[in-house]
Amino acid sequence: MKKYIIALDQGTTSSRAIAFDKKANIVGMRNCEFKQYYPQPGWVEHDPFDILNSQLKALEMLLEDYSINPSEIDSIGITNQRETVVVWNKETGKPVHNAIVWQCRRTADICEQLKKDGHEKMIKEKTGLVIDAYFSGTKIKWILDNVMGCRQLADTGRLLVGTIDTWLIYQFTNGKSHVTDPTNASRTMLYNINTNKWDEQLLKLFDIPKSLLPKVINNSAFAGTMTIEQYDIPICGIAGDQQAALFGQNCLLPGEAKNTYGTGCFILVNVGYEPIQSANGLLTTIAWKLNDKTTYALEGSVFNAGSSIQWLRDELQLIKSADESETCAQAVVDTNDVYVVPAFTGLGTPYWDMYARGTIVGLTRGANRNHIVRATLESIAYQSMDVMECMEKDANIIIKQLRVDGGASANNFLMQYQADVTGAKVIRPRISETTALGVAFFAGLYTGFFSGLDELKELNKIDKIFTCRTNEKYRENKKKKWHKAVEKSKDWV
Ligand code: ADP
Repeated sequence: MKKYIIALDQGTTSSRAIAFDKKANIVGMRNCEFKQYYPQPGWVEHDPFDILNSQLKALEMLLEDYSINPSEIDSIGITNQRETVVVWNKETGKPVHNAIVWQCRRTADICEQLKKDGHEKMIKEKTGLVIDAYFSGTKIKWILDNVMGCRQLADTGRLLVGTIDTWLIYQFTNGKSHVTDPTNASRTMLYNINTNKWDEQLLKLFDIPKSLLPKVINNSAFAGTMTIEQYDIPICGIAGDQQAALFGQNCLLPGEAKNTYGTGCFILVNVGYEPIQSANGLLTTIAWKLNDKTTYALEGSVFNAGSSIQWLRDELQLIKSADESETCAQAVVDTNDVYVVPAFTGLGTPYWDMYARGTIVGLTRGANRNHIVRATLESIAYQSMDVMECMEKDANIIIKQLRVDGGASANNFLMQYQADVTGAKVIRPRISETTALGVAFFAGLYTGFFSGLDELKELNKIDKIFTCRTNEKYRENKKKKWHKAVEKSKDWV
């Protein structure tokens, strides 16, 4: 009997394997960390075999520790850190260079040149992305141009390229499958999100031969077979982590949004079957492609969210643990008019000021530790609010509900404040591993383990709903003050 779906969640610092049963309960979970390489300031790399081995190790521990027999596994879904890219030799299966990680800034110069040459508008229209070193395209170009012999190998069709989903599946299937999905493809800067194809003009601009690129298949589709012991298990779901979370949160209709509160915040809103170009610095991206129909999303991020709580803990030492921030915030009735703007690395959507720096304003003699802690938590809600407002303007919608996940979504004060300051209902689901769940859903929909979208809605039940307790006047007043505080942090360095 097929009892389980295994989701492999390949993240930036660790690889996880999670088993879900038919009711989408988490049966077991195992995690394996791997090494980060920082060869120069601003450069970040992973060893592709560390990624592979940590993922295999997590899977092995899961099966062993929870006594899961491979014969009981229905299928596998893979979700991954996005944009990180590997180039490998087709004949040997060996990478020609370490994986260049999404955080790596080594291609900033290439991006500056692309902007100078006037490609910004064309790239945005085709890919939904702004030109930035974050995305895979310039990273691939860098490897081909800088690793000895690569250009020639590429031109003679002897290399392959892939984001981490593609790399893992290639290895799991012993080189039989070279595939990716539209969500990962849409983060490469080489994929036309309007036509759903690798874009010839972009490939030419980046000087990347098409023969290197994987075949793009639907999110819920047969991607290959992985043999565990003597059992052949189909891989039937692929999605980039943020899109998988959107799906795992059941944001299936236009206007439905999710926010992941981790180190930073990642907010995505489903905008339906037509891509919407942002006028406010958001990215347009593919949410998923199911039954050959593409759903799009707008994406925005907050650079510093949970990281500001770590700052309270580690640098200011105002709290001993992240949890304690909730107790501190609840110990006072307001922030005593203190505002913290955690612009440690500049400001993103909608301000885009890389010269901004963090600031605390509104201090009076009565301001105490609890006020500062509370104001820091509130800043996470305000920054998310700013992104949500951009989405509302771009897509001409109102976000009535926000589904939440990620480490800091455990903070009840923060979730309540998010509702209070946006007016939206904040919904926290029972299963917080929404990324893994999303890709388990994709796999299970393909095999019939889950019967259809209606069933999925029933599976990830609600843990808690936070409803807004404020009126419009209160919200406007708070927003005004917050924006005034943001002004103080701008253009500092
Ligand atoms: P990531 O995947 O980005 O590493 P996680 O989803 O694991 O992030 O969440 C960890 C982050 O959430 C940390 O930055 C931490 O400070 C923050 N965090 C965890 N618990 C709480 C809490 N109860 N209140 C506020 N922040 C929290």
